Amino acid sequence: MDTALKDSNKGTAKPVNLSDLAPEELAAELSPYGLPAYRIRQIGKWLSAGASFSEMTDLPLKLRQELAEKYSDGALKIAGKLVSAIDGTVKYLIDTGDGNIVESVLMKYKYGYSACVSTQAGCKMGCTFCASAHAGFGRDLTAGEIAGQIRVMNRDAGVNVGHVVMMGIGEPLDNYDNVVAFMRQAHDPEGLNISYRKMSLSTCGLIPGIEKLMKEDLPVTLSVSLHSPFQEERARMMPVANKYKLDKLLEICNIYSLETGRRITYEYAMISGTNDTEAHAKELVRLLGGTLCHVNLIPVNPVDGTGYRRAARERIGEFRETLEKGGLAATVRRAMGRDIEAACGQLRRKALEAKT
Ligand code: SAH
Repeated sequence: MDTALKDSNKGTAKPVNLSDLAPEELAAELSPYGLPAYRIRQIGKWLSAGASFSEMTDLPLKLRQELAEKYSDGALKIAGKLVSAIDGTVKYLIDTGDGNIVESVLMKYKYGYSACVSTQAGCKMGCTFCASAHAGFGRDLTAGEIAGQIRVMNRDAGVNVGHVVMMGIGEPLDNYDNVVAFMRQAHDPEGLNISYRKMSLSTCGLIPGIEKLMKEDLPVTLSVSLHSPFQEERARMMPVANKYKLDKLLEICNIYSLETGRRITYEYAMISGTNDTEAHAKELVRLLGGTLCHVNLIPVNPVDGTGYRRAARERIGEFRETLEKGGLAATVRRAMGRDIEAACGQLRRKALEAKT
């Protein structure tokens, strides 16, 4: 590595992170340098490959030095990595350069590689079953930092991610502008080139964000974390439901699917003896029947200190049957990387605990 450029990406000290910029913004930002268009494209290509300034070897050294003095290249560092012996899933701990750590997961499916990315360093939502809630909130991630997780994984694993789910740490709609900028950036054919239809945004149910997203004309899949069909129980599990009530949430989801023509995925973590009874399944049928949706049952990942246990496989099967008999499309999510604690936030929590 070029030592003169080694520290070019220290934290958030430099105000502009070039990897956050859309192609036209990059061109505008670099216009004072009077560079030919091909140079700007070259820089854009490097940035979307996750390269640091010191690696942009086909740029003149002087230009790289000037850029490094003024800007951050946004290249993220891998702080830890676990590979599943069961299915090859790779869980990454990624260092944002300012003391924050996020988790990202790379999964291999028959149709290709899928990335699960974090949208915030930590989470404010406080869902009782989720490890992210227990490790506190750091800050929002920028568009470049969300995309940067995919770049780091593409490079490290030598793959080309074609699907992305925003189901890592954080609440995407609580970081709305950066998440929308990220989706547009990830879609750029010159960059990560991921089709909108292969992106899923998962939310705990921030109604104003869903309403806003509906107007963006981004054909991404909206996943909504439901976890209970009963308002009071849901609010006990997910404090956000005190503010955004279940009936209103389902109403807006319905409008979303009618306006966009796209079905909503409802995520439902199956917790033994809590939300896995027949009464729950029947109420789901009553609430969701006839709407354009799909229910994804997730065997809950037990998180230390929560006391929640995973529902038995047979119970999940019966639950699914009740949903299907009631006319709902339902699937059971295959657990990926169970041996490496792929549940959101568990690894980060341990890494942060180890620091203190
Ligand atoms: N904040 C967003 C996205 C991040 S969480 C949201 O709430 O949707 C991604 C999904 O994992 C959500 O459905 C969330 O409820 C679920 N989840 C969180 N902790 C879990 C656990 N321990 N077991 C199973 N699913 C969990």
